[in-house]
Amino acid sequence: MPRCQLCKRDVEQITVHHLIPKQKGGTSEDTINLCLPCHKTIHAYFTNTELVQEYNTLQKLRDAERLQKYLKWIAKRSIESLKVRRKK
Ligand SMILES: [Zn+2]
Ligand SMILES: [Zn+2]
Repeated sequence: MPRCQLCKRDVEQITVHHLIPKQKGGTSEDTINLCLPCHKTIHAYFTNTELVQEYNTLQKLRDAERLQKYLKWIAKRSIESLKVRRKK
């Protein structure tokens, strides 16, 4: 099972986030694996410019003040609880 690098949960589906877009000179090494909620959240909380200029490493994203509340919340949600919710 793949693991999200931001919330560290094992998830069924993983998405790839480009820390530095290819157009800006990023390579395939400048990517991180994220679960869907994490990926959606970082794009909702940050503009693309902020992501490229200020949050272009995994560590910076993890330390981002805006994400602390979300990260605490998501860490408590196991894959099981997400699965149960989806059935309803
Ligand atoms: Zn995640
Ligand atoms: Zn992304």
